[in-house]
Amino acid sequence: MITPAFTPSGAVATRYWSSLPDGRVQCDLCPRACKLQDGQRGLCFVRAAEDGAVVLTTWGRSSGFCVDPIEKKPLNHFLPGTAVLSFGTAGCNLACQFCQNHDISKSREIDTLADQARPETVAAAALALGCRSVAFTYNDPVIFHEYAIDVAKACHDVGIRSVAVTAGYVSPEPRAEFFAHMDAANVDLKAFTEDFYVRHTRSHLQPVLETLEYIRRETSVWLEITVLLIPGENDSSAEIADLCRWVVERLGPDTPVHFTAFHPDFRMLDKPATPAATLAMARRIALAEGLRYAYVGNVHDLGRQSTVCHGCGERVIERDWHALGAWRLDGRGACAFCGTPMAGVLEARPGAWGARRLPVRLADYETERGAAQAEPAPVQPSTSASPKLSASKRKASRRSDQ
Ligand code: SF4
Repeated sequence: MITPAFTPSGAVATRYWSSLPDGRVQCDLCPRACKLQDGQRGLCFVRAAEDGAVVLTTWGRSSGFCVDPIEKKPLNHFLPGTAVLSFGTAGCNLACQFCQNHDISKSREIDTLADQARPETVAAAALALGCRSVAFTYNDPVIFHEYAIDVAKACHDVGIRSVAVTAGYVSPEPRAEFFAHMDAANVDLKAFTEDFYVRHTRSHLQPVLETLEYIRRETSVWLEITVLLIPGENDSSAEIADLCRWVVERLGPDTPVHFTAFHPDFRMLDKPATPAATLAMARRIALAEGLRYAYVGNVHDLGRQSTVCHGCGERVIERDWHALGAWRLDGRGACAFCGTPMAGVLEARPGAWGARRLPVRLADYETERGAAQAEPAPVQPSTSASPKLSASKRKASRRSDQ
């Protein structure tokens, strides 16, 4: 059983921090480099200073589980049609004004973390539910680095792969350790200007670009990118063209890019929803700049969500939002019409999960051995019978991945 080094308070010891001359400690996990006095929490809220060290306060606790189609992450070229067990924790290291999961990313309520979730239980649940992978999503997994890695290890032990849905705002050393345990990632590239990142997320663009290049060049992690287009903020044709040109040049034309529709949320209620024409324009630009796989998201648009062979122009994977239609790849993952190989982690046949979403009560998958050996949680979460857990499960089934 995976058992981390718990501190006396029940938090988990971490590695990426340093001591400062003034007695504070600095968290070195992400570029924010929060400087903390004992008892203080970082901007992400889940890492804190305790007895002269930085600890993780949310190991083994989740804000809810749900089985999703892998297309919802979104990943269109990683085991298409298969089920993925999705979960998140609480907190976030960005401060996006347009956050679509602000109930957990901005949570300061410990009751948000209603589900106790040991790594082996997550893996057992994924296996029993027929999932091919587990996704760290809903909030950014880099802030629960140690827990995400422990879950990924437990999943790999039983043949379940791991998926990170992340904004990629993480420092180089922890980044290398984190992605060494991932099989696929969807990185949220929120815009292609430093001005947008500073004004709307209180972070910076360059570390995200470095993460994207790191994943592509230094790992075997399958990479896709999501760009949420916000009217008047990051949707100009010039910015989209710059972004796509950078992806082609630095990451390669086989990197799928998803242009998804914004809806007014959290602290950005003054912007309209993204028109379908803007999504179509972005996809057109992406293809013109040389990207082979460009998709629109958060809308129904079979023509622009299906995978088209860049060799012959035939539609090889039909897709409508999260549901697959016709499958026209051969047993090697190549176009059945012309034999051009499609990029990705593709098998002879697609999965058959469909577009369903299934909220999961993780306690149902706790093994007797694991339950007997389980460490006490730092702060006892609500019981499975509590109304708060039911609420968290209902929320999990509605959450957005980006
Ligand atoms: S991970 Fe959290 S505590 Fe650490 S630097 Fe980033 S925001 Fe601050």
